[in-house]
Amino acid sequence: MRKRVVVLGSTGSIGMAALDVIRRFPGQFKVVGLSAHRDGARLAAQAREFRPEAVCLTDESAAVEYGRTLAKATSVMLEGADGIETLAAWPSADLVLNAVVGLAGLPASVAALSHGKQLALANKESLVAAGRLLMRLAEEKDGVIIPVDSEHSAIWQCLAAAGRARPRRLILTASGGPFYGRRADELAAVGPEQALRHPTWSMGPKVTIDSATLMNKGFEVLEAAALFDMPLDRIDVLIHRQSAVHSLIELDDGALIAQLGAPDMRLPIAYALSYPERLPGDWPRLDLAELGALTFAKPKRGEFPCLDLAYQAGERGGGLPAALTGADEVAVDAFLTRRLAFSDIAPLLIKVAARCERLPGDTLADIIAAGEAGARTARELLKDYAPPGMEVSR
Ligand code: MG
Repeated sequence: MRKRVVVLGSTGSIGMAALDVIRRFPGQFKVVGLSAHRDGARLAAQAREFRPEAVCLTDESAAVEYGRTLAKATSVMLEGADGIETLAAWPSADLVLNAVVGLAGLPASVAALSHGKQLALANKESLVAAGRLLMRLAEEKDGVIIPVDSEHSAIWQCLAAAGRARPRRLILTASGGPFYGRRADELAAVGPEQALRHPTWSMGPKVTIDSATLMNKGFEVLEAAALFDMPLDRIDVLIHRQSAVHSLIELDDGALIAQLGAPDMRLPIAYALSYPERLPGDWPRLDLAELGALTFAKPKRGEFPCLDLAYQAGERGGGLPAALTGADEVAVDAFLTRRLAFSDIAPLLIKVAARCERLPGDTLADIIAAGEAGARTARELLKDYAPPGMEVSR
Protein backbone atom coordinates (compact mmCIF):
# COMPACT_ATOMS: atom_id res chain seq x y z
CA MET A 1 0.00 0.00 0.00
CA ARG A 2 1.38 3.36 -1.01
CA LYS A 3 1.34 6.08 1.65
CA ARG A 4 -1.04 8.83 0.57
CA VAL A 5 0.52 12.25 1.07
CA VAL A 6 -0.64 15.87 1.07
CA VAL A 7 2.12 18.47 0.64
CA LEU A 8 1.21 21.93 1.92
CA GLY A 9 3.57 24.63 0.65
CA SER A 10 4.64 22.44 -2.27
CA THR A 11 6.28 25.23 -4.31
CA GLY A 12 8.65 26.33 -1.52
CA SER A 13 12.10 24.96 -0.77
CA ILE A 14 10.90 22.16 1.58
CA GLY A 15 7.87 21.33 -0.57
CA MET A 16 9.99 20.90 -3.69
CA ALA A 17 12.53 18.77 -1.82
CA ALA A 18 9.65 16.59 -0.55
CA LEU A 19 8.33 16.10 -4.08
CA ASP A 20 11.85 15.23 -5.18
CA VAL A 21 11.93 12.46 -2.55
CA ILE A 22 8.47 11.24 -3.60
CA ARG A 23 9.49 11.30 -7.29
CA ARG A 24 12.34 8.89 -6.50
CA PHE A 25 10.04 6.42 -4.71
CA PRO A 26 6.87 6.17 -6.80
CA GLY A 27 6.15 2.71 -5.39
CA GLN A 28 6.00 4.06 -1.83
CA PHE A 29 4.03 7.31 -2.05
CA LYS A 30 1.03 8.76 -3.84
CA VAL A 31 0.49 12.53 -3.77
CA VAL A 32 -3.21 13.23 -3.10
CA GLY A 33 -3.04 16.97 -2.43
CA LEU A 34 -0.80 19.96 -3.12
CA SER A 35 -1.04 23.56 -1.95
CA ALA A 36 0.85 26.76 -2.67
CA HIS A 37 0.38 30.38 -1.76
CA ARG A 38 0.52 32.12 -5.12
CA ASP A 39 2.95 30.34 -7.44
CA GLY A 40 0.17 28.91 -9.63
CA ALA A 41 2.47 28.16 -12.58
CA ARG A 42 4.73 25.88 -10.54
CA LEU A 43 1.76 24.32 -8.74
CA ALA A 44 0.19 23.50 -12.12
CA ALA A 45 3.41 21.85 -13.30
CA GLN A 46 3.49 19.79 -10.08
CA ALA A 47 -0.18 18.86 -10.49
CA ARG A 48 0.46 17.66 -14.06
CA GLU A 49 3.32 15.50 -12.85
CA PHE A 50 1.80 14.07 -9.64
CA ARG A 51 -1.92 14.07 -10.52
CA PRO A 52 -3.27 14.87 -7.02
CA GLU A 53 -6.96 14.59 -6.17
CA ALA A 54 -7.03 18.22 -5.05
CA VAL A 55 -4.91 21.36 -5.15
CA CYS A 56 -5.19 24.66 -3.31
CA LEU A 57 -3.93 28.19 -3.90
CA THR A 58 -4.30 30.26 -0.75
CA ASP A 59 -3.89 33.61 -2.52
CA GLU A 60 -7.32 34.24 -4.00
CA SER A 61 -6.25 36.41 -6.92
CA ALA A 62 -3.72 33.72 -7.91
CA ALA A 63 -6.55 31.17 -7.63
CA VAL A 64 -8.58 33.19 -10.14
CA GLU A 65 -5.60 33.61 -12.49
CA TYR A 66 -4.59 29.93 -12.50
CA GLY A 67 -7.99 28.29 -11.92
CA ARG A 68 -8.48 27.03 -15.48
CA THR A 69 -4.91 25.78 -15.86
CA LEU A 70 -5.15 23.89 -12.57
CA ALA A 71 -8.60 22.46 -13.35
CA LYS A 72 -7.01 20.51 -16.24
CA ALA A 73 -4.61 18.72 -13.90
CA THR A 74 -6.82 17.89 -10.92
CA SER A 75 -10.43 17.23 -10.06
CA VAL A 76 -10.81 19.48 -7.01
CA MET A 77 -9.59 23.08 -6.92
CA LEU A 78 -9.59 24.74 -3.48
CA GLU A 79 -8.66 28.27 -2.53
CA GLY A 80 -7.99 30.58 0.40
CA ALA A 81 -7.33 29.82 4.05
CA ASP A 82 -10.35 27.48 4.23
CA GLY A 83 -9.05 25.55 1.25
CA ILE A 84 -5.77 24.66 2.91
CA GLU A 85 -7.62 23.42 6.03
CA THR A 86 -9.84 21.25 3.83
CA LEU A 87 -6.74 19.83 2.17
CA ALA A 88 -5.01 19.22 5.54
CA ALA A 89 -8.03 17.09 6.55
CA TRP A 90 -8.32 15.40 3.12
CA PRO A 91 -10.17 12.09 3.70
CA SER A 92 -7.88 9.83 1.66
CA ALA A 93 -4.62 11.27 3.07
CA ASP A 94 -2.49 9.26 5.50
CA LEU A 95 0.19 11.88 6.02
CA VAL A 96 0.19 15.67 5.73
CA LEU A 97 3.51 17.43 5.24
CA ASN A 98 3.08 21.01 6.40
CA ALA A 99 5.74 23.20 4.81
CA VAL A 100 3.79 26.46 4.90
CA VAL A 101 5.93 29.43 6.00
CA GLY A 102 4.89 31.34 9.12
CA LEU A 103 1.91 31.33 11.45
CA ALA A 104 -0.38 30.89 8.44
CA GLY A 105 0.52 27.20 8.72
CA LEU A 106 -1.01 26.76 12.18
CA PRO A 107 -4.68 26.13 11.21
CA ALA A 108 -3.57 23.42 8.78
CA SER A 109 -1.59 21.67 11.55
CA VAL A 110 -4.67 21.76 13.77
CA ALA A 111 -6.89 20.45 10.95
CA ALA A 112 -4.54 17.56 10.11
CA LEU A 113 -4.20 16.45 13.74
CA SER A 114 -7.93 16.86 14.43
CA HIS A 115 -8.57 14.38 11.63
CA GLY A 116 -6.05 11.86 12.94
CA LYS A 117 -3.48 12.38 10.19
CA GLN A 118 0.22 11.82 10.61
CA LEU A 119 1.63 15.33 10.58
CA ALA A 120 5.13 15.75 9.15
CA LEU A 121 5.85 19.22 10.41
CA ALA A 122 8.23 21.64 8.73
CA ASN A 123 6.16 24.66 9.81
CA LYS A 124 8.02 25.40 13.05
CA GLU A 125 5.80 28.39 13.89
CA SER A 126 2.96 25.92 14.61
CA LEU A 127 4.90 24.41 17.49
CA VAL A 128 6.49 27.65 18.68
CA ALA A 129 3.13 29.38 18.97
CA ALA A 130 0.85 26.48 19.90
CA GLY A 131 3.10 23.67 21.08
CA ARG A 132 1.05 22.53 24.04
CA LEU A 133 -2.20 22.69 22.11
CA LEU A 134 -0.85 20.65 19.18
CA MET A 135 0.79 18.02 21.38
CA ARG A 136 -2.45 17.59 23.32
CA LEU A 137 -4.40 17.29 20.08
CA ALA A 138 -2.00 14.66 18.75
CA GLU A 139 -2.42 12.65 21.94
CA GLU A 140 -6.23 12.90 21.97
CA LYS A 141 -6.59 11.87 18.33
CA ASP A 142 -3.89 9.22 18.42
CA GLY A 143 -1.99 11.22 15.86
CA VAL A 144 1.71 11.82 15.59
CA ILE A 145 3.81 14.87 14.86
CA ILE A 146 6.94 13.87 12.95
CA PRO A 147 9.56 16.61 12.85
CA VAL A 148 10.99 17.69 9.49
CA ASP A 149 13.28 20.45 10.76
CA SER A 150 16.78 18.92 10.50
CA GLU A 151 17.65 19.48 14.18
CA HIS A 152 14.42 17.97 15.45
CA SER A 153 14.58 15.11 13.01
CA ALA A 154 18.10 14.49 14.35
CA ILE A 155 16.83 14.39 17.95
CA TRP A 156 13.93 12.15 16.87
CA GLN A 157 16.48 9.78 15.32
CA CYS A 158 18.78 9.97 18.40
CA LEU A 159 15.82 9.10 20.65
CA ALA A 160 15.03 6.08 18.49
CA ALA A 161 18.67 5.02 18.87
CA ALA A 162 18.54 5.54 22.65
CA GLY A 163 15.69 3.06 23.04
CA ARG A 164 13.86 3.48 26.35
CA ALA A 165 16.30 5.98 27.86
CA ARG A 166 14.94 9.48 28.45
CA PRO A 167 17.35 12.25 27.47
CA ARG A 168 18.67 14.51 30.21
CA ARG A 169 19.59 17.28 27.78
CA LEU A 170 18.98 18.20 24.14
CA ILE A 171 21.74 19.94 22.22
CA LEU A 172 20.70 21.76 19.06
CA THR A 173 23.48 22.65 16.66
CA ALA A 174 23.51 25.98 14.79
CA SER A 175 25.67 26.89 11.82
CA GLY A 176 25.79 30.48 13.07
CA GLY A 177 24.63 31.80 9.70
CA PRO A 178 26.56 33.99 7.26
CA PHE A 179 27.56 36.66 9.80
CA TYR A 180 28.98 34.56 12.61
CA GLY A 181 31.99 36.29 14.16
CA ARG A 182 31.21 39.68 12.58
CA ARG A 183 31.14 42.72 14.83
CA ALA A 184 27.79 44.37 15.55
CA ASP A 185 28.80 47.60 13.78
CA GLU A 186 29.57 45.68 10.58
CA LEU A 187 26.05 44.29 10.47
CA ALA A 188 24.22 47.61 10.10
CA ALA A 189 25.05 47.77 6.40
CA VAL A 190 24.44 44.17 5.31
CA GLY A 191 21.76 43.77 2.67
CA PRO A 192 19.36 40.94 1.77
CA GLU A 193 21.70 39.47 -0.86
CA GLN A 194 24.43 38.92 1.77
CA ALA A 195 22.04 37.62 4.41
CA LEU A 196 20.47 35.21 1.92
CA ARG A 197 23.86 33.57 1.28
CA HIS A 198 23.77 30.81 3.89
CA PRO A 199 27.15 29.07 4.34
CA THR A 200 25.90 25.46 4.46
CA TRP A 201 22.14 25.09 3.83
CA SER A 202 20.03 26.07 0.86
CA MET A 203 16.63 27.17 2.23
CA GLY A 204 13.76 29.59 1.65
CA PRO A 205 14.28 33.34 2.28
CA LYS A 206 12.39 33.58 5.62
CA VAL A 207 14.31 30.80 7.35
CA THR A 208 17.63 31.96 5.84
CA ILE A 209 17.23 35.44 7.33
CA ASP A 210 16.08 33.88 10.62
CA SER A 211 19.27 31.79 10.54
CA ALA A 212 21.39 34.93 10.17
CA THR A 213 19.81 36.54 13.27
CA LEU A 214 19.63 33.17 15.10
CA MET A 215 15.90 33.80 15.58
CA ASN A 216 15.51 30.51 13.74
CA LYS A 217 17.56 28.73 16.40
CA GLY A 218 15.53 30.44 19.10
CA PHE A 219 12.32 29.20 17.52
CA GLU A 220 13.86 25.74 17.23
CA VAL A 221 14.58 25.72 20.98
CA LEU A 222 10.88 26.37 21.64
CA GLU A 223 9.91 23.82 19.00
CA ALA A 224 12.11 21.21 20.72
CA ALA A 225 10.68 22.05 24.15
CA ALA A 226 7.15 21.35 22.88
CA LEU A 227 7.96 18.35 20.74
CA PHE A 228 10.11 16.51 23.28
CA ASP A 229 8.47 17.85 26.47
CA MET A 230 11.76 19.23 27.73
CA PRO A 231 12.23 22.25 30.05
CA LEU A 232 14.07 25.14 28.42
CA ASP A 233 16.98 24.98 30.85
CA ARG A 234 17.77 21.51 29.51
CA ILE A 235 17.99 22.59 25.88
CA ASP A 236 21.37 23.95 24.77
CA VAL A 237 22.56 25.48 21.53
CA LEU A 238 26.01 24.75 20.15
CA ILE A 239 27.57 26.63 17.24
CA HIS A 240 28.81 24.07 14.73
CA ARG A 241 29.94 25.71 11.51
CA GLN A 242 30.14 22.56 9.35
CA SER A 243 26.42 21.58 9.69
CA ALA A 244 27.40 17.90 9.77
CA VAL A 245 26.12 17.06 13.27
CA HIS A 246 22.44 17.96 13.09
CA SER A 247 21.80 17.73 16.86
CA LEU A 248 22.52 15.55 19.89
CA ILE A 249 20.96 14.14 23.02
CA GLU A 250 22.70 13.56 26.35
CA LEU A 251 21.68 10.58 28.48
CA ASP A 252 21.84 10.16 32.26
CA ASP A 253 25.19 8.36 32.18
CA GLY A 254 26.82 11.13 30.15
CA ALA A 255 26.59 9.36 26.80
CA LEU A 256 26.00 11.68 23.86
CA ILE A 257 24.13 10.41 20.82
CA ALA A 258 24.40 12.50 17.67
CA GLN A 259 22.94 12.26 14.19
CA LEU A 260 25.17 13.27 11.30
CA GLY A 261 24.52 13.70 7.61
CA ALA A 262 25.11 15.97 4.65
CA PRO A 263 23.29 19.30 4.91
CA ASP A 264 20.50 18.25 2.55
CA MET A 265 16.86 18.50 3.63
CA ARG A 266 15.92 15.42 1.62
CA LEU A 267 17.25 13.18 4.40
CA PRO A 268 15.01 14.52 7.22
CA ILE A 269 12.09 14.83 4.79
CA ALA A 270 12.53 11.24 3.61
CA TYR A 271 12.68 9.99 7.20
CA ALA A 272 9.51 11.92 8.07
CA LEU A 273 7.70 10.49 5.03
CA SER A 274 8.82 6.91 5.50
CA TYR A 275 9.11 6.75 9.32
CA PRO A 276 9.89 4.33 10.88
CA GLU A 277 11.39 2.81 7.71
CA ARG A 278 14.45 4.22 5.91
CA LEU A 279 14.57 4.97 2.20
CA PRO A 280 17.70 4.15 0.19
CA GLY A 281 18.15 7.71 -1.07
CA ASP A 282 20.89 8.62 -3.52
CA TRP A 283 21.18 12.23 -2.34
CA PRO A 284 24.65 13.50 -1.26
CA ARG A 285 26.28 11.66 1.65
CA LEU A 286 28.53 13.05 4.33
CA ASP A 287 32.23 12.43 3.79
CA LEU A 288 33.85 12.91 7.20
CA ALA A 289 37.39 12.49 5.88
CA GLU A 290 36.77 15.27 3.38
CA LEU A 291 35.50 17.53 6.19
CA GLY A 292 38.52 16.65 8.31
CA ALA A 293 37.44 18.43 11.47
CA LEU A 294 34.24 19.23 13.30
CA THR A 295 34.23 22.29 15.54
CA PHE A 296 31.88 23.34 18.32
CA ALA A 297 31.50 26.53 20.33
CA LYS A 298 29.08 27.90 22.88
CA PRO A 299 27.19 30.96 21.62
CA LYS A 300 28.12 33.91 23.84
CA ARG A 301 25.22 35.31 25.82
CA GLY A 302 24.29 38.74 24.54
CA GLU A 303 25.87 38.18 21.14
CA PHE A 304 22.65 36.79 19.67
CA PRO A 305 19.79 38.81 21.19
CA CYS A 306 17.16 36.93 19.16
CA LEU A 307 18.25 33.63 20.70
CA ASP A 308 18.04 35.09 24.23
CA LEU A 309 14.67 36.60 23.37
CA ALA A 310 13.25 33.25 22.31
CA TYR A 311 14.28 31.64 25.61
CA GLN A 312 12.66 34.53 27.51
CA ALA A 313 9.47 34.23 25.45
CA GLY A 314 9.38 30.51 26.10
CA GLU A 315 9.76 31.02 29.87
CA ARG A 316 7.03 33.63 29.80
CA GLY A 317 4.70 31.47 27.68
CA GLY A 318 1.09 32.50 27.03
CA GLY A 319 0.66 34.34 23.74
CA LEU A 320 4.18 35.79 23.69
CA PRO A 321 5.85 33.13 21.51
CA ALA A 322 3.01 33.52 18.98
CA ALA A 323 3.39 37.31 19.05
CA LEU A 324 7.12 36.91 18.45
CA THR A 325 6.58 34.72 15.38
CA GLY A 326 4.04 37.23 13.99
CA ALA A 327 6.43 40.13 14.61
CA ASP A 328 9.37 38.27 13.10
CA GLU A 329 7.50 37.72 9.84
CA VAL A 330 6.96 41.49 9.58
CA ALA A 331 10.58 42.28 10.52
CA VAL A 332 12.06 39.80 8.03
CA ASP A 333 9.79 41.04 5.25
CA ALA A 334 10.79 44.65 6.06
CA PHE A 335 14.47 43.69 5.90
CA LEU A 336 14.05 41.83 2.59
CA THR A 337 12.26 44.84 1.08
CA ARG A 338 14.91 47.25 2.44
CA ARG A 339 12.69 49.00 4.96
CA LEU A 340 14.62 47.80 8.02
CA ALA A 341 18.35 47.40 8.64
CA PHE A 342 19.61 43.94 9.54
CA SER A 343 20.96 45.27 12.85
CA ASP A 344 17.51 46.68 13.72
CA ILE A 345 15.66 43.33 13.48
CA ALA A 346 16.53 42.24 17.05
CA PRO A 347 15.88 45.64 18.71
CA LEU A 348 12.48 45.80 16.99
CA LEU A 349 11.54 42.30 18.16
CA ILE A 350 12.65 43.07 21.73
CA LYS A 351 10.31 46.10 21.77
CA VAL A 352 7.42 44.04 20.40
CA ALA A 353 7.99 41.40 23.08
CA ALA A 354 7.90 44.03 25.83
CA ARG A 355 4.50 45.21 24.59
CA CYS A 356 3.05 41.73 24.03
CA GLU A 357 4.27 39.89 27.12
CA ARG A 358 0.90 39.58 28.81
CA LEU A 359 -1.13 38.22 25.92
CA PRO A 360 -3.02 35.00 26.69
CA GLY A 361 -2.27 31.81 24.75
CA ASP A 362 -4.70 29.21 26.08
CA THR A 363 -6.88 28.64 23.03
CA LEU A 364 -6.28 28.56 19.30
CA ALA A 365 -8.17 31.86 19.02
CA ASP A 366 -5.87 33.42 21.68
CA ILE A 367 -2.81 32.22 19.81
CA ILE A 368 -3.94 33.50 16.43
CA ALA A 369 -4.88 36.85 18.02
CA ALA A 370 -1.46 37.03 19.72
CA GLY A 371 0.28 36.37 16.40
CA GLU A 372 -1.73 39.17 14.79
CA ALA A 373 -1.00 41.50 17.72
CA GLY A 374 2.71 40.81 17.35
CA ALA A 375 2.59 41.55 13.62
CA ARG A 376 0.56 44.72 14.14
CA THR A 377 2.88 45.98 16.88
CA ALA A 378 5.91 45.33 14.67
CA ARG A 379 4.31 47.28 11.82
CA GLU A 380 3.63 50.22 14.16
CA LEU A 381 7.18 50.20 15.51
CA LEU A 382 8.72 50.02 12.02
CA LYS A 383 8.01 53.73 11.67
CA ASP A 384 10.63 54.43 14.36
CA TYR A 385 13.42 52.97 12.24
CA ALA A 386 15.01 54.67 9.25
CA PRO A 387 15.24 52.44 6.18
CA PRO A 388 18.85 51.33 5.62
CA GLY A 389 20.89 53.70 3.48
CA MET A 390 18.30 56.49 3.83
CA GLU A 391 20.29 58.62 6.28
CA VAL A 392 20.34 62.27 5.26
CA SER A 393 23.64 62.96 3.46
CA ARG A 394 25.64 66.04 4.31
MG1 MG B 1 16.48 23.81 11.35
